[in-house]
Amino acid sequence: MQAEGNITIKNSNELQVLREAGKILASIIEEVKSSLKAGMTTKDVDSIAEGLIGKQNVKPAFKGYRGFPGCVCMSVNDEVVHGIPSDRVINEGDIVSLDVGIIYKDYYSDTAVTVGIGQIGPELKKLLDVTRESLYKGIEQAQVGNHLSDISNAVQKHVEANHFSVVRQFVGHGIGRNLHEDPEIPNFGPSGHGPILKEGMVFAIEPMVNIGKARTKILDDGWTVATEDGKPSAHFEHCVAILKTGPEILTTV
Ligand code: MG
Repeated sequence: MQAEGNITIKNSNELQVLREAGKILASIIEEVKSSLKAGMTTKDVDSIAEGLIGKQNVKPAFKGYRGFPGCVCMSVNDEVVHGIPSDRVINEGDIVSLDVGIIYKDYYSDTAVTVGIGQIGPELKKLLDVTRESLYKGIEQAQVGNHLSDISNAVQKHVEANHFSVVRQFVGHGIGRNLHEDPEIPNFGPSGHGPILKEGMVFAIEPMVNIGKARTKILDDGWTVATEDGKPSAHFEHCVAILKTGPEILTTV
């Protein structure tokens, strides 16, 4: 492992481990996603994830991280990120963000998806589509030779063209031997700024998109981030390796 400024450059062996980690994590989140049903509590979902993580012989990355009690951050409706699994019941028409991380052979992987429970309204459906699309717009810019903020700008442009807003207070991050490495990857800002992207950098790109205003607040539990205006929010995340051949999404099956 080398470094470019404070950004670690992964060698081919490390990339292979991160690839395996990403595949395992993607299979776990797929299975958790398909188990989601109205009437479950967010704690039920966390237990399912914990079981799957145990079966794969990997470790949960979030449980115990600065005291976080769950394996999954579960953020419902107006909650943006970092929701604590609890006795809260998931209802038909809710949107639920699942954010899961694992540790595999001392390397971290991190991914998130937002899912509609049963039938959701057209505005929520659009929110999920635009947030997912904005992640892919960002990933397209994760190219050798681009500036870091080209990713940020691509996300923001797509979100704002669709009249939603991007969260400013939480950002994506480098990932590898640590869950959060440099650089911070904002989902907003002008293109053409920040470090030049090099082969072997690995980023967790994670747009958080609000239907209403961008501002967020932290709830009394000290963890859950929610929109200040109470309107819904969505979150999608992939780990992406920057390669000469283009961006490779690691957290996919
Ligand atoms: Mg993350």
